[in-house]
Formats: sequence, structure tokens, C-alpha cells
Amino acid sequence: MRLAFEEFDRFEDAFEALLEKLDFKVTDPFRDVKKVLCIEPHPDDCVIALGGTIKKLADSGIDVVYLLLTDGSMGTTDESVLRHELALTRLIEERKSSELLGVKKVLTLDFGDTELPYDREARKEIVSLIRKEKPEMVLMPDPWMPYESHPDHRRAGFLGIEAVSFSGLPNFNRTDLMIGLEPHSVSAVGFYYTHRPNYFVDITDVMELKLKAVKIHESQFTEEIWELWEPYLRTIALYYGKLGGMKYAEGIRFVPGIFLHICPFHDVI
Ligand code: ZN
Repeated sequence: MRLAFEEFDRFEDAFEALLEKLDFKVTDPFRDVKKVLCIEPHPDDCVIALGGTIKKLADSGIDVVYLLLTDGSMGTTDESVLRHELALTRLIEERKSSELLGVKKVLTLDFGDTELPYDREARKEIVSLIRKEKPEMVLMPDPWMPYESHPDHRRAGFLGIEAVSFSGLPNFNRTDLMIGLEPHSVSAVGFYYTHRPNYFVDITDVMELKLKAVKIHESQFTEEIWELWEPYLRTIALYYGKLGGMKYAEGIRFVPGIFLHICPFHDVI
């Protein structure tokens, strides 16, 4: 017979029983998922981080929607390319790349590249889109990834996690209610670009397709840049693969919703 929680003397026993009570299982994260919202700071982040996973989700009938936060207009070293031209080029590349992976649609918020604001307005915009799309799962960059230099990446992670925490609260932006957007609770959150993955997707059979989808972002990956980036991306996939016991993998850190607040034991999740 199962013990009542007041009878547990050891953390390990209580923790195991607590995990059993949760709806979301880190070991089987896509079980009840019909739609995934993948938040990306720039037009190539979802495919770089999760192109293989996204292809597999789409093939299995799960809807994948991108939420692109900035216009990507800083992504060039060519002085002759103007911001608005690059933003348009990158959006076209993103549509082509996401189509190859089977992504349903790409939502955009058009904040300036390198200038993603970390404020209430940005949070509200993301919350509204979560309420509109009603995904069961939201993916975002891990904002605690050490040595990540890009503020848009760190902020995208923090904004994403906060939007997920607040989208179910009716008093957060009641204007949404007036235009018919109901509060929506997201059951699962996953962090990509993470150094602490706890779940691995074997992408060995779709690795070449992933690289093709990355390279569609031609404004970012000229032949010269690709000479270094292809080995970089393969090495990252081999690293996650080594951790997960496969050849090429993508690593994700899934966290059950309740542990996104006041939780001191992330080291054992
Ligand atoms: Zn980026």
C-alpha cells in the first residue's frame, strides 16, 4: 500500500511518489501533446537547436508552430545589407526552412534583433499568442545556459518561461479575455540550447535533412561560414548523442510545470 506523504522519512521516497502524482513525465514528454509552440529569438534558432526533433514531431502528427521573436536584422557582416532588407530575406528563408520540416506556421513578433525587450509588453504579447494557439508544450532556449553571450537568447528563455507561468492566470492582461482569448495552462516546458539535457531525441536518420534545413538560411550560412558551422553542428549533435547513447541527438531539458517555481532540487530532475 502506498504511504501517505507524512510517513516518508527520506527525500528520495517522497520525490519518487511525487513524480508519480504528476501528469507530465520527463521520460515520455510528448505523450499527450498535440501542439508544440517553439519560441525562437532569431529566424534560425528552432532549426539549429531542434530541426531533427521538429521533423519527427511533424511526421508523427503533432502540430509544430514557431514563435519568432525578433526580425534577425543584425545577422550580417556585410555593410551593404540594410536592416529591413535582411529582415525580409530572413523571413523568406525561415518559411522555406520550416516548410521542409513540416512546421504548421510561423508567428512573428518583429522585435528588433539584439533589442528583444525584457518587459511586461513582450511578456503580454507572448501570453496572448499562447492563449490563441493553446499548445500543450512550449519550447524555448535555456536562459541558464552558461557563457551564452546573446541577450536575445537569454531573454527569450526568461520571457518564455514567464509567459507559460502567467498564461493561465485570468488577471494577467484581462484585455485578452475581452477579445475572446481564454486563459490557457501549458502542461510541459522544454529548454533547448541547454547544457543540462534530461531527454534526447535520436536524430541520426534525419541529420542530413536537418543540416539542409539549416543551410536554407543562406544569409547566415555562406559557404565560408558553413565550412566551420557544419562541423560545429555535427559535433554538438555527437555530444548530445554521446550523453544519450546514440549517434546524433538533440538534447532538451524538460521540467514539470510545478518545478518551475520555488524548486531546490533541479539537480535530480
Ligand atoms: Zn539566435
